[in-house]
Amino acid sequence: MITEISDKFYRITLPMPFRLRHVHAYALVDGKDIALFDTGMILPGAPEKLEADLESIGHSIEGISDIYLTHVHTDHCGMAGILQEKSNARIHLSQVSHQVHEHFQQTDYLIGQARLFYTKHGVPTRDVEAIVEEIEDMSSRIPKFEVHTFLQENEIRQFGSRLFEVIFTPGHAAGHVCFFFREEGLLLAGDHILPYIPPSLSPNIYDEIFQPLASYLESLAVIEKMPIDIVYPGHGNSFSGIEERIREIRTHHELKKEALRQILKSEPKTTFTVCSELIGAAAANWDDWEKFMALNETYVYLQALKRDGAIQETMMNGVLCYSAV
Ligand SMILES: [Zn+2]
Repeated sequence: MITEISDKFYRITLPMPFRLRHVHAYALVDGKDIALFDTGMILPGAPEKLEADLESIGHSIEGISDIYLTHVHTDHCGMAGILQEKSNARIHLSQVSHQVHEHFQQTDYLIGQARLFYTKHGVPTRDVEAIVEEIEDMSSRIPKFEVHTFLQENEIRQFGSRLFEVIFTPGHAAGHVCFFFREEGLLLAGDHILPYIPPSLSPNIYDEIFQPLASYLESLAVIEKMPIDIVYPGHGNSFSGIEERIREIRTHHELKKEALRQILKSEPKTTFTVCSELIGAAAANWDDWEKFMALNETYVYLQALKRDGAIQETMMNGVLCYSAV
């Protein structure tokens, strides 16, 4: 589905397999050229769907001259490689996203590290293997592409007569950026802020210094100060009233942290146990990917609570346990 969101500016809705069901790419047209912001996921039929949508406005994949990526999760960059092959598009992303993308391609190392990491956090072998399968599946969808430029913080880019600003918003992913079209007050938000769910947070196995929640909250404060009239996210409908949505997301994270503190009141527990207690019976309806995401998020909250001084971490029989201070 393609929708014009502003003059010669389009939202293209593409399929994805997870519960979200869809992801948006955005296309800005200048004469024969197209700038594509995120690409959608590589799935059977997805390139044909993108081609049909572009044809409906008198264009084609060959016309894509530039691809700008908010981040390198596979639902946002998956088609970058094949689109570049067909169109010779120049690809632009942040330098940190580029590093993350390089790391994602080292599948064997990633899987080895993941086994160590999740075992250390109390995940039973069967569940570690389910995580490994998820990582293998994700790795099979990671595109190879050539990068043309690195996006710099707060720089102004031009496409045709349109100017847009590069806003660094690490948190949901290290290296995440949003694109701000100041004249229209329009923010292409990627996964930094979403209308229905709080964006997921995951550890970076390659960078233990990266603090996803603290970075994310700082990045929310960055966009809170900007004159944004309308947000076009990677998933879900566009929305206004960004301040209210930011408040809701902040409250969500506070409540989650408090719920974890309560779970840890009685006795020391591993990340896996805390996560299982937090999800409770709902886990029966969740697929392995969703459970993986929940486990990652639990880890992120526990690390944040540890830094706050609210809980402590101790190694017990080779497994990390958390307890109230
Ligand atoms: Zn994402």
